Amino acid sequence: MNAAAKTAIVLGAGMVGVSAAIHLQKRGWRVTLVDRKEPGSETSFGNAGVISRGSILPVAYPGLLWDIPKILAGRSRSVRVDPKALFGMLGWAPAFLRTATKTENRRIAGVLNALLALCLEEHEALMKEAGATAHLTKAGWLKLYRTEEGFAGSAFEREVMDELGVAYRVLDAAEIAALEPNLQPIYARGVHILGTASVDDPAAVCRAYAALFENRGGDFIRGEVSRLEDDGGTARVALNDGAILEADAAVVAMGPWSAEILKSVGVAIPLFHERGYHRHYRPAGNAVLTRPVNDAEGGFVLAPMAAGIRLTCGVEIAPEAAGPSTKLIDGVTPFAQQAFPLADCLDETPWLGRRPSLPDGLPAIGRAPGRNRIWTCFGHQHVGFTLGPVSGRLLAEMMSGDETVIDPQPYNPARFG
Ligand SMILES: Cc1cc2nc3c(=O)[nH]c(=O)nc-3n(C[C@H](O)[C@H](O)[C@H](O)COP(=O)(O)OP(=O)(O)OC[C@H]3O[C@@H](n4cnc5c(N)ncnc54)[C@H](O)[C@@H]3O)c2cc1C
Repeated sequence: MNAAAKTAIVLGAGMVGVSAAIHLQKRGWRVTLVDRKEPGSETSFGNAGVISRGSILPVAYPGLLWDIPKILAGRSRSVRVDPKALFGMLGWAPAFLRTATKTENRRIAGVLNALLALCLEEHEALMKEAGATAHLTKAGWLKLYRTEEGFAGSAFEREVMDELGVAYRVLDAAEIAALEPNLQPIYARGVHILGTASVDDPAAVCRAYAALFENRGGDFIRGEVSRLEDDGGTARVALNDGAILEADAAVVAMGPWSAEILKSVGVAIPLFHERGYHRHYRPAGNAVLTRPVNDAEGGFVLAPMAAGIRLTCGVEIAPEAAGPSTKLIDGVTPFAQQAFPLADCLDETPWLGRRPSLPDGLPAIGRAPGRNRIWTCFGHQHVGFTLGPVSGRLLAEMMSGDETVIDPQPYNPARFG
């Protein structure tokens, strides 16, 4: 079949969907991108903007089981579990907790690393084509430790980075001050992850990629997807205004909402949401932050953005229907204020985003199990902004029957089938 004649509908215009749409377009597909909002309006809007080469470990770290009582008692700075979410967690938490061993962490890191190794070059290629390079800073990012114990406690991460060839430099207090003179001198140790970059406005980057897609002849439709169909020969996408779109293939890239829509074609994937929040601050005086910093013990990230210093927090597990809670972000705010001179808060209410996560910490990239015309590209948890372009490329290569840049098998969504 002539690939140039093929048509695809990509559902979801976050970083992952927009990137997949561009890569399909590059391979001769006629692509329609659908989203109920403007591109880059959900999770891809409010993240910390780190193109994070070094985020190789899954969230379920070895030793997590011992921390569960502290988390459930509300004494963790990085994780909050709403008690009302506990019943719903039964669908994914056992498989998630099984990855909390060194052996499983190493296996997952190896698989994720294959994608992460390409993240920056794939972003840079799209940024050049989209005229978005002005948003990029290539200064790495800093993981900071207030105590020697905290630093020593993270040795496993450095061991795995060494094994996988992730470049970093260990810093003492003076070296941290040399890199970021406006941080308060409260850190004993730092790890400067090299090969990592950051952007000053993730939504603007996503929208620049979407504009590139449209300028190259791609169609963007604003609409709410309500149902999928796959009769083996055609993919059909129903919108809730009654419209039915048809194509040779449909790609589910709806981030946190992907699993819900897949139910309409009988596909069950145990996706869950790791909520996270952000708020912006004006830096006090002339204080400057050059790159994102992660205070491992404080449980927050501070990232310099066009809109101000963006404070993001860790993970909240809450029922879908639960409204936003400020507990987690309020809890880390005093620690962030100790770290950097933050002046006025620029947001009345914090932004809430949902990291789309799968129990094994790996994305679902490939053909939907048992479906001929439906493909998936979601579940990028804490690194979806980072991985959008490389995942989109891998998916487009698979759909086009081309040689793939890496082995796609470990990301196959059929592992949940
Ligand atoms: C606080 C926080 C900090 C983070 N920091 C980083 C970071 O520094 N680096 C990093 O790489 N990642 C980070 N992440 C994770 C990253 O933001 C996500 O993994 C990524 O944005 C997911 O992109 P996506 O395209 O899969 O989903 P989304 O960006 O959520 O896109 C999904 C799209 O689907 C659309 N949609 C949903 N349902 C429907 C429907 N029924 N009909 C039509 N459209 C629909 C939505 O409108 C949305 O536009 C962070 C996340 C959070 C919450």
